[in-house]
Amino acid sequence: MKITGIRTFLMHAGPPRPSKWAPPQKREGTRNWLFLKIDTDEGITGIGECSGWPRVVETAIKDLAPLLVGEDPTHIEKLWQKMAIAMMGHGMLGTVGGGAMTGIDMALWDIKGKVLGVPVWNLLGGKLRDRIPIYSHANTIEQALSLKARGIKALKCSGVSDPVRKVDMLCEAVGDDMDIAIDLHGPPWMTPADACRVVRRLEPYELLWVEDPIAPDNVEGYRRIRDAAHVPLAAGERAATIFGERQLIEEELVDVIQPDTGRAGGITQMKKIAAMAEAHHIQMAPHSGSLGPVAEYAALHLLAAIPNALVLERIDDDWDGRSSVIVPHPVQEGGSLAVPEAPGLGCDIDEEFVARFPSEGNLSVPVEESANVYAPGTYGERLYVQTRLSRRRYFNT
Ligand SMILES: [Mg+2]
Repeated sequence: MKITGIRTFLMHAGPPRPSKWAPPQKREGTRNWLFLKIDTDEGITGIGECSGWPRVVETAIKDLAPLLVGEDPTHIEKLWQKMAIAMMGHGMLGTVGGGAMTGIDMALWDIKGKVLGVPVWNLLGGKLRDRIPIYSHANTIEQALSLKARGIKALKCSGVSDPVRKVDMLCEAVGDDMDIAIDLHGPPWMTPADACRVVRRLEPYELLWVEDPIAPDNVEGYRRIRDAAHVPLAAGERAATIFGERQLIEEELVDVIQPDTGRAGGITQMKKIAAMAEAHHIQMAPHSGSLGPVAEYAALHLLAAIPNALVLERIDDDWDGRSSVIVPHPVQEGGSLAVPEAPGLGCDIDEEFVARFPSEGNLSVPVEESANVYAPGTYGERLYVQTRLSRRRYFNT
């Protein structure tokens, strides 16, 4: 079997509602989804998905495609290494290179599963579980209670401006029936000293985890937070490959590692990252905040097959297009998704639906009137500076 070509499918992916982080001149969401298909001379096609600045990643895929045409798609590790070496001249792999290789790697696993007639989880060592628990996002009491009513057992809130107060409010609302995590989004303005104080204040709430309390570039800063508070820490969504995640794992700076299924280097790398984490008793909860549904399928196969799977991020009510683009729909019952049973990844995209939503740029900036992002009247001072003006809000309850 030989690879004959790679096709990419780039789309603008809602949500079609006002966003606090909109591109200039727009009030819509800013995500792009990038899918790809690898074709072979035997008529079997593999599908994958990439993140890590999708419009740029699409160009990288087109550069990589000639390396793959004519190759046997079942030699996945060999092709992964071939791509990595080809990109050496561009510097460290990062998330653009990682994103391109992720979609290609994912599609190669899909092809291999289809060739052998087995689901991808079977190729990864078999299944430990039939269902994967999910968590979703909630920032208001109404949203939290809605998740609880649907049988979802865990939620994550966003704590850019007032994390302690928000956690206090949500814990009070849902009681002990749901686990709660909070994502501080690795803000560049949060110093390790302030992060230590915030995380200590969060200690009594028995959170599932505190995510990215400081900028991910400051890996050493995690040691200070680790030493300051007994709270499970999570990080890793912005890194790629085993090399990007290595320090967090080897120095046991986190309790939960969160590689992004669309840019961490593919199933090949995710499986290795999971094994590295397992050796340090660290659990895995893949990041999927801006990802589409093909990467979600890949995560389900991986989490079915690794012993240290914790939970999968899932935002399923953000845009109707999420369910329109994928066939078949993932099967969610209450707080978990069924592990797919069809050969390969077990999914396909609706190419005509994708074509209806051409990409319209992919950078986001907070809009001026967004009170939760900018303090009133401080838009001109830019986010990095002005957030310090409301520092005390971090510590309020
Ligand atoms: Mg995050």
